[in-house]
Amino acid sequence: MNKKIFYAIWLMTITVLISCIAFLMVISYNRYTQEQMIQLRNETELVTRGIAMNRESYLKDLDTENFRITWITSEGRILYENGTDVEGMEVPLEQEEIQGALANGYGESSRYSSVSEKQLYTARKLPDGTIICLSVTLASIWALLARISPVIIAAALAAWWLSRSIAFKLPKKIVEPLNDLTLEEQMSTEKAPVYEEIRPLLKRLDDQYKQIQKDREELERTSLIRQEFTANASHELKTPLHVISGYAELLEHGMVKEEDIPSFAGKIRAEAQRMTKLVEDIIDLSKLDSGGKDMNRENTDLYRIAQNAAESLEAEAEQNQIRLSVEGENTIIAGIPQVLYSIVYNLCLNAIKYSDPGNDVRILVENRDNEAVLSVTDHGIGIPQEELDRIFERFYRIDKSHSKEVGGTGLGLSIVKHGAKIHDAEIKVSSEVGKGSVFTVIFPK
Ligand code: ADP
Repeated sequence: MNKKIFYAIWLMTITVLISCIAFLMVISYNRYTQEQMIQLRNETELVTRGIAMNRESYLKDLDTENFRITWITSEGRILYENGTDVEGMEVPLEQEEIQGALANGYGESSRYSSVSEKQLYTARKLPDGTIICLSVTLASIWALLARISPVIIAAALAAWWLSRSIAFKLPKKIVEPLNDLTLEEQMSTEKAPVYEEIRPLLKRLDDQYKQIQKDREELERTSLIRQEFTANASHELKTPLHVISGYAELLEHGMVKEEDIPSFAGKIRAEAQRMTKLVEDIIDLSKLDSGGKDMNRENTDLYRIAQNAAESLEAEAEQNQIRLSVEGENTIIAGIPQVLYSIVYNLCLNAIKYSDPGNDVRILVENRDNEAVLSVTDHGIGIPQEELDRIFERFYRIDKSHSKEVGGTGLGLSIVKHGAKIHDAEIKVSSEVGKGSVFTVIFPK
């Protein structure tokens, strides 16, 4: 991070420095050249007048260290040049300033004579046709740059040093308060955050932190439920096993009278059946626990499902002397058929189990606009109001002995609840002790 910041600052400083120097150099050099040209122009006027008045004698007396003065004929032959003895030699007439003088009486130009030097030229035609030329030598912009280069290098080094010290101190200064902050402090409304800019980040961290805590609590809760469930399931399985092994032992040792053997065998079979039902329910429930992810949803007719469930419960109903009926109409929902079947089956089985002989159980499937409604009505023993919340818990039974007597496992309504949840369905129960119960499951379409 330090290195990155250092390079960024250093690059920026150098860029600014170079741009400023270049800008200033170009502006001031142009200005300087212009001023020199103005001076040269004035000088040319003076010399012109001097020559007009005093001819050569004026030139001889002139102190012109800074300028070169060349006096030529209109053919280019040199009449005089200060400081040299070039009389009689020729100068090329095509030079811009001389061309200007020949054409308009006055001309000027500037040229680089070398990388380090620049020349300014003026030429003025005298009334007798001769031409007076003046020139001055200036240092070129590159020469000036070379002259100030030590200052530039010093400034660059200073910028380098400054960038380095900023780059190595700045991150620490920025990060220090971040390392010291606590989420609670920052998210409390009274205190201003360390940096307003990081508020969204802190908010996200806070949300994630809360989510993690929630997930952890949920995990602890489900793990507790699992432990409880395992303990309960083992206990529930142990009881019939004890009964079975007890009866089997009696039979083994010949301690059962010949005529009692069928009734003992029947008891063993009943317990084994209870165990089978229990294991089946546990398997169903564990499948539902995974949220039904690996189960396929398809368009399913809830009415057909209800008919199938009622059909398979016919024997059970007959045995309990219950009249079972299915009413309603074909109602298609996107669902998992085996789960829907479990819902109807368990509700219907309960209705049969907890009804007195001679009563009716009615399954009704209603096809409404946005929902499919399944209701199972019985005229059985009913459920006390205060128990309505608890009956969906695993292994919860209002009357344990009665439930066992009728072959209950305590898991039926748990299966219904989970199955409904997978289908985003809502369950409603209305019940009155001694009068009966209505279980309604409302499926969204
Ligand atoms: P179980 O296997 O014991 O029937 P459930 O989970 O299906 O277990 O039901 C839990 C308890 O709710 C039952 O033990 C019973 O006391 C009560 N219950 C369920 N359905 C009915 C009903 N239709 N009428 C009366 N009580 C019911």
